[in-house]
Amino acid sequence: MIWFFDTMPKRTVAKEIQKKSQEHKCLVCGEPAFVRGVCKRHYEVFKYEKRKRAGKQAKAEFESDCIREGLILSPWQVCEMTRENPFSRE
Ligand SMILES: [Zn+2]
Repeated sequence: MIWFFDTMPKRTVAKEIQKKSQEHKCLVCGEPAFVRGVCKRHYEVFKYEKRKRAGKQAKAEFESDCIREGLILSPWQVCEMTRENPFSRE
């Protein structure tokens, strides 16, 4: 079984993802990011495509493919990148 939350982006796209998410830009089009590293429009497209997949397994596979290709951030990536100081407990 494939779970998207331990999926890592490919090494070839990882740098680009980091740069764009630090600038809060959509990973797909470069517009201001809304959620999960993408703009509102691309998040809608992602949700629409995900909905088209039948079954939990297919949905999870689709999501992890997107994460690997650097089209969307995984939930834990969002936490990691939006935290300014990972050592601060405040
Ligand atoms: Zn976009």
